[in-house]
Amino acid sequence: MSERLLKGIGVSPGIAVGPAVVVRWTMPDVPHRVVPRSQVEKEVRRLRAAVRDVRRYIQALKAKAEDRAGVDEARIFDAQVLMLEDKQFLAGVADLIRENHLTAEKAFEFKALEVRDMWAASGSPRLKDRLADFTGVAVRVIEHLMHRGADELWEGITQPSVVVARELGPGLTVQLDREHVTGLVSEEGTRTSHAAILAHSIGIPAVFGVAGALERIGPGTMLVMDGTRGTVLLHPTPSEIAEARSREQRRRALAAQLEEVVDQPAVTTDGVRIVLRGNVDLPDEIRAAQQHRAEGVGLLRTEFLITGHSALPTEDEQAEYFRRVGEAFPGHPVVVRTYDLGGDKLPAPFRAPSETNPQLGWRAIRVCLDRPDIFRTQVRAALRAAKHADIWLMIPLVTRLDELDRTRAIVAEEAARLAAEGVEAAASIPVGVMVETPAAAINADRFAESAEFLSVGTNDLTQYTLVVDRGNARLADRFTPHDPSVLRLLKMVADAARAAGKPASVCGEMASEPLSAFLLIGLGYETLSVAPPALPLVKWTVRQVSAARARAAAEQALAARTADDALDLLRLALAEAVDLKLLDPDARLPAGRRSASLNV
Ligand code: PEP
Ligand code: MG
Repeated sequence: MSERLLKGIGVSPGIAVGPAVVVRWTMPDVPHRVVPRSQVEKEVRRLRAAVRDVRRYIQALKAKAEDRAGVDEARIFDAQVLMLEDKQFLAGVADLIRENHLTAEKAFEFKALEVRDMWAASGSPRLKDRLADFTGVAVRVIEHLMHRGADELWEGITQPSVVVARELGPGLTVQLDREHVTGLVSEEGTRTSHAAILAHSIGIPAVFGVAGALERIGPGTMLVMDGTRGTVLLHPTPSEIAEARSREQRRRALAAQLEEVVDQPAVTTDGVRIVLRGNVDLPDEIRAAQQHRAEGVGLLRTEFLITGHSALPTEDEQAEYFRRVGEAFPGHPVVVRTYDLGGDKLPAPFRAPSETNPQLGWRAIRVCLDRPDIFRTQVRAALRAAKHADIWLMIPLVTRLDELDRTRAIVAEEAARLAAEGVEAAASIPVGVMVETPAAAINADRFAESAEFLSVGTNDLTQYTLVVDRGNARLADRFTPHDPSVLRLLKMVADAARAAGKPASVCGEMASEPLSAFLLIGLGYETLSVAPPALPLVKWTVRQVSAARARAAAEQALAARTADDALDLLRLALAEAVDLKLLDPDARLPAGRRSASLNV
């Protein structure tokens, strides 16, 4: 089976069964041609006309996206229009035509490949995500200049099929007809690619980031693709197809139940109110958090403001962004996390020497305190936004109390300075600590005394407690936040916060997953900040379970000797209230301890 199973990232849920239509969609082959000097200006005019026509075409796509996906999603196409309005880029193409007498299409291709290479090499996930958008626009302009249409690609699809491509841009995705295209598989792309966002809104299941898909899948290959699990199964047997179909039925049944809880409060069956906030990495995610009724943002990551940019964001830009996010969640807090820049991923403006052990190096709050110019700008922006919205400030990767003390001193100084300058800003702002190192967890009682709130980052806490690189695929099995050592730390932090009367939440990935959310409630956390798409599922789970049962299960998990034992105990407890097969079709209870509710 394993050689028939390809893995990627599930970016749009649902299962599709059907033959593959393979799209080798890439930059067209543009012949190298030069034109006589007398025709050079004509080529420049042809370039301008093509850009104008393609801009109109993209505006038409935007209108289509408004109908099919929604007004906000349609804004995705504004980015493509902006690419076509980039004066520097177009002037570069015109220069190439004039200097080398190239045809407009050849000059455009040269410039487009240059930009693609630059973005691909930037190391910025955001720019990489936008590569498909850029290619989409570039292909369209080149095709137009070569008098070829790009739309015919889809005309050959006459029966329900799964489209397999190297990369998919939003322009093609929005035109897909759900009758004929039942699923999308792409070698490139991530959850935040524009094509992924559109596929999700239109309701087409999709799996992106499937390495080697084009090599393994030929035209007509029968596929079962699962956009929830992120898998593509080649040449499925009839029983595999039947099993996939019943999985899809369960998924739909759960989706219908999730719809119903959107406007319900997250309260356990024994009346404990759980606050569910959203984690926002990129501005695109604000809308999903709002749609799923997030009670504020428990983790507003700010790294995107820097990575992939050649200049640091200004105080005004940051203040405006924080205010915008704050105003999107009236009556709820937005927790701005100060820059968490990694030693291995320091963007250009930092110019830091490379380190042998970047995860243990110059990271996060260490960078900020060493670069007060950058840190103070961010603090001032947060204080200014806090005048208009409920903005909190949270510092990452804290290990020592003086990091908190120094941050608080900087916040107080900047608040005083803003007041003296007559700038509209809050006089103070809650400052909290992200507990994501064993040092911070072990010292949680002291941090809880001085910080206004604590939030546990279980991704890093697990990495540093178990000494397992969170990004190392070879160690993925060892990366378990359910290890007894991590559970003990989680309990210590919850207890320390409660004893000090300070709020504590969990904003690491584990809070987004129902079984772990159940555990965290049992450990005493009443605020969870989760990935926006997971909000309905976590809320639904909260509403099925009792906090008393969660506490008893957490006690048992804490007493377990291994992560697997802890997980078994948690599954057994959760299965009393929830049909685990709905959450995870592969759920297995320990042998001999099967619960009736699992027999679906
Ligand atoms: C964490 O470490 O758990 C966390 C939420 O922060 P990040 O994933 O951004 O490091
Ligand atoms: Mg972290």
